[in-house]
Amino acid sequence: MLFKRIENLEKCAKEHGLIYLGCSDLDVTQDFVHFENWLAKKNYGDMAFLTLNQKVRKDPKKLLPGAQSAVLLAKNYKVPKPNRLLSIAPIASYAYYQDYHKILRQECLRFISACKRDGTLMADTDYRVTIDSAPLLERALARKGGRGFIGKNTLFISPRHGSFLLLASIILTEPLPANADHGYATEKSGLRHKDHGGCGSCRRCQIKCPTQALAQDYQLDVSRCLAYLTIENRGTIPTEYWKHLPRAFFGCDICQNVCPYNRETPVNEDWPRIIPERLKGVSTFEIAVMDQAAYEKWFAGTPLTRAKIFGLKRNALIVMYVTHDHRLSEALTLIKKAPEIHPVIRATVKQIEAYEVD
Ligand code: SF4
Ligand code: SF4
Repeated sequence: MLFKRIENLEKCAKEHGLIYLGCSDLDVTQDFVHFENWLAKKNYGDMAFLTLNQKVRKDPKKLLPGAQSAVLLAKNYKVPKPNRLLSIAPIASYAYYQDYHKILRQECLRFISACKRDGTLMADTDYRVTIDSAPLLERALARKGGRGFIGKNTLFISPRHGSFLLLASIILTEPLPANADHGYATEKSGLRHKDHGGCGSCRRCQIKCPTQALAQDYQLDVSRCLAYLTIENRGTIPTEYWKHLPRAFFGCDICQNVCPYNRETPVNEDWPRIIPERLKGVSTFEIAVMDQAAYEKWFAGTPLTRAKIFGLKRNALIVMYVTHDHRLSEALTLIKKAPEIHPVIRATVKQIEAYEVD
């Protein structure tokens, strides 16, 4: 009976284009301790929001009255040969698609309705779908689903589907059979197996990370990570990292691209990749000097808006500087002539003019 239920959940997820990552109870104590230790090292850049709402993060039951379990789902977002699709410097694979929060939520809601219709879930089960939308240790729940592990790159990795996964957790008021908890993969486990997972003695992501943000096993120093520096960071980018931006204009996938678990994982063929079409023929110069109208035309509805207009312009200016773009001085002149200039752009222009770059 239980086996049949899990089989039905998996089948239903597949029918809705989703990857089923198992069910879990809501006890994330072990992962919360790991998270707290990481916070204590203050390696979270200026993402101070990670220090808030700890009661909920520690106990996901607080997210929904009567919560008892979670169903873990995912959508893959791998892009075929991403660097060939754009004329500007590379962007993270997930950013090629429309902002995923809404579409993934819709897919999860359709999944729940179908499960309720066919009796896999009880009709009166209450639920909450969370996709980066709640203070939840999503990767912790995902690994507790029993179909993957957290790698040394700190990402959830499914041995079958790799790590290019957008995670969705559905918190339910119905108890579901929890899968085996694989715990943290460790050197001791000695595993790097296509079925069982684990990093074993592999260190590829740590060696290939250009900024040494993964120097410690299973720990990310956010303040060194290009994904943070080019997206979430609301200030200037320290000049020591500038040389990496021509490989990471918006986000960075290096620690995923080099992971053996991603070698044979499929690309997402369900969602249209809108960025290559929108940015056809658009140069780094045009992004560096874009106004609000151009920003909306090229980036509205895409994950690149997370960096805001000033973040994208900042990144573009740095790429132009590092690549010796012949239109850099023209871009600087245009920016300085504009009636308003964002403080971060002003500071970046100053950095460039002072030739502070190593
Ligand atoms: S995203 Fe890039 S910079 Fe960040 S940890 Fe991974 S390889 Fe390093
Ligand atoms: S590259 Fe190697 S060490 Fe890094 S997450 Fe993948 S398997 Fe683990």
